Amino acid sequence: MGASGVHKQAIVVKISPENPDRTLIERVAGILKMGGLVAFPTETVYGLGAVASIHEAVLRIFKVKGRPPDNPLILHLASPDWLHSVARDVPELAFKLAERFWPGPLTLILYRGEKVLDEVTAGLPKVAVRVPSHPVALGLIEEVGEPIAAPSANKSGRPSPTRAEHVLEDFDGEIDAVIDSGETLHGVESTIIDLTENPPVLIRPGALPVEDVERLVGQKIVVPSFARGLGEAERAIAPGTKYRHYAPKAEMVVVELDNYSDLARLAEKVREIAVEKASRGLRVGILCSDETLHYYEGFKEVLSLGPRGNMFVVARNLFGALRELDRRGVDFIVAEGFEERGLGLTVMNRLRKAAGFKIVTA
Ligand code: AMP
Ligand code: MG
Repeated sequence: MGASGVHKQAIVVKISPENPDRTLIERVAGILKMGGLVAFPTETVYGLGAVASIHEAVLRIFKVKGRPPDNPLILHLASPDWLHSVARDVPELAFKLAERFWPGPLTLILYRGEKVLDEVTAGLPKVAVRVPSHPVALGLIEEVGEPIAAPSANKSGRPSPTRAEHVLEDFDGEIDAVIDSGETLHGVESTIIDLTENPPVLIRPGALPVEDVERLVGQKIVVPSFARGLGEAERAIAPGTKYRHYAPKAEMVVVELDNYSDLARLAEKVREIAVEKASRGLRVGILCSDETLHYYEGFKEVLSLGPRGNMFVVARNLFGALRELDRRGVDFIVAEGFEERGLGLTVMNRLRKAAGFKIVTA
């Protein structure tokens, strides 16, 4: 399975998300059980999966991604009933959250069970777990019959994949198979909450707004500055948060406002930076919103992420837009900021990290 260093093309298996073909899922599950690496769709982004108990396969995830060994993986389960096999001292709150939000885009951090491999948790005493809702992902995990360890199916540091084509861009020839089920629903990763802390801590904002979790928990979730995409985190607090993430090849800056009522001012600053960069001969891309699109007439590479009133759409389009600007060969990206509420927090976390924390306030 590629261990010999022979680069054969990944098998691409098209599976309908509405009506997944059982035979195809069995075939792909067979590749996983033999120690293979398979990229598969989830409702968030595409994941790069290995059977979590197969040591060599898990190590291969790190190798092909170029992922630092101290950045742990998420275990994907078919049911909350599997929690007992991977975690210990599971608090009542975990079951309450699972009942409400699983299957779905919420990852819980719990104390790890004994059987979980060190590589999966990067040697930490805690493990990240979730039950995905995508029918193909669920079918695959059920068929494998044990947890699948899977980070996002992108080269370390690159924007996460929302289509099978993105996975092939990064990994063709290095993994065994890709399931193609079209574009993912949310287009951003799961929300990660550490339940071993009290009050619980947001490790990464994601497809489930943290406010929805707070409503159920009846308590404020701690939102550290690294979860907002500001600055770097200590390894001990939140592994995986200290690396540059989601980055396009182009250099990038985010233009922010303290209060997003004055969009003309935001657009003016974006234009000013774009004009200055273009005057130095750079090909400039602009990431904006439907409301501000008209300010950028005359600029060539302008992409709107969607309407500010529908952050679901904005989040969903984000990674694809970053990859699209790379494909068009822009050298510099100027991105508009969004209000940090609901999915806006998720979008700002990704934008700030993609920009390597280069932020300008208008
Ligand atoms: P990815 O699915 O590629 O976004 O990567 C999984 C992410 O989950 C990592 O980057 C970490 O931020 C987080 N994670 C996984 N396991 C743990 C853990 N034990 N403690 C804290 N964060 C974790
Ligand atoms: Mg990732």
